[in-house]
Amino acid sequence: MLEVKHLEKSYQKDKPALTDINFSVEPGTFVAIIGPSGAGKTTILRSLNQLIKDDGGQILLDGGDLRTANKTQLRGYRRQIGMVFQNYNLVERLTVIENVLHGRLGYKSTLAGMFGRYTEAEKQEAMTLLEKVGLEEFALRRCSELSGGQKQRVGIARSLIQHPKVILCDEPIASLDPASSQTVMQLLKDLTTEFNIICIANLHQIGLAKDYADRIIGIRHGKMVFDEDSDMLSEEI
Ligand code: ADP
Ligand code: ADP
Repeated sequence: MLEVKHLEKSYQKDKPALTDINFSVEPGTFVAIIGPSGAGKTTILRSLNQLIKDDGGQILLDGGDLRTANKTQLRGYRRQIGMVFQNYNLVERLTVIENVLHGRLGYKSTLAGMFGRYTEAEKQEAMTLLEKVGLEEFALRRCSELSGGQKQRVGIARSLIQHPKVILCDEPIASLDPASSQTVMQLLKDLTTEFNIICIANLHQIGLAKDYADRIIGIRHGKMVFDEDSDMLSEEI
């Protein structure tokens, strides 16, 4: 379980970006965080893996606090938290399967093109994930040849290769057309259930959030304004 308690963050004095954010999420749940630009959505996601240092509160992953973890512990936690980015963050000149394997290097690895280093079991795992995202036939193609929707499916496969407990998706569909957006949302929903993970995605589109997420957290001016199961949300929101 992921628990966020009294999370606070200010980038500048007396200008809070986040104020008293509280929520907890069980495995197998797809949560959408929605709100206008500047509301604090990215700040929440980056706090969840401590890419930015927040000012106060607790972030507990299965009871362990990321905020007070030492360097080694934090590295361990980050292995359990996959990332999916708006602009995919793929290495375009490498193949699809190399990019998926790249996820094993984890956060802040600058190594690329190390295909030969991987074991057969790791390559098999990457192929299995590519099957899950419907791209097994593209495994040996360069990422630069793919469409945006396909690139994001590679990004999702990469985020899953370390068997994370949580994946954090920062505007995963903001660069995609409507049809690809739906495919990616359906995939996130299905994988969340299949792998029993926690998926947290920042989104602009309330409509897609309602259609695919289990739960929606609304953020305005750094504060939570609602936190509801998506089928409970009233029409006017
Ligand atoms: P969202 O993801 O909802 O668009 P952000 O989390 O990016 O919102 O931003 C929340 C607030 O924090 C905004 O007022 C933004 O201007 C401010 N902010 C974000 N990042 C920084 C930063 N690195 N330095 C200063 N202010 C920032
Ligand atoms: P650099 O600043 O040197 O580019 P990054 O932190 O951006 O380093 O990471 C390098 C590459 O590693 C990225 O292009 C991305 O493909 C991959 N990557 C980064 N973070 C993750 C993550 N959490 N999970 C999987 N792959 C990641």
